[in-house]
Amino acid sequence: METTGHPDKMFRNGLAEGRIILPKCRSCGKFHFFPRLVCPHCHAMEFAWHPVSGRGEIHTTTVVRQKPEHGGDYNICMVELEEGVRMMSRVEGLAPQEVKIGMVVTAYVGEAAGGAAVLCKPAEG
Ligand SMILES: [Zn+2]
Repeated sequence: METTGHPDKMFRNGLAEGRIILPKCRSCGKFHFFPRLVCPHCHAMEFAWHPVSGRGEIHTTTVVRQKPEHGGDYNICMVELEEGVRMMSRVEGLAPQEVKIGMVVTAYVGEAAGGAAVLCKPAEG
């Protein structure tokens, strides 16, 4: 996979292609997010980009109140992916107050605020 360019741009390009890809440090083998030029775990600067599995768990969740004429209440969450990174997301397909901490979800690339974004849905099974 192409590994040049600014890490944040790499991530966004991935989303634009419908993939969640994250930098994995070549030195310590850990993933991190947001993408940075230097590994936050060991300060190495070489990464390989890998698509994530999408399996994750809700770490925190908030219901944002909004009038129905503006789209109604919605959920904002912090999802922790099994790769060990946390990112802001939103759970779709569920009433916002039904999203619970510890819930197992599947992260996928959807659309939010007119752009590609990481969204979640309840995991099946
Ligand atoms: Zn590292």
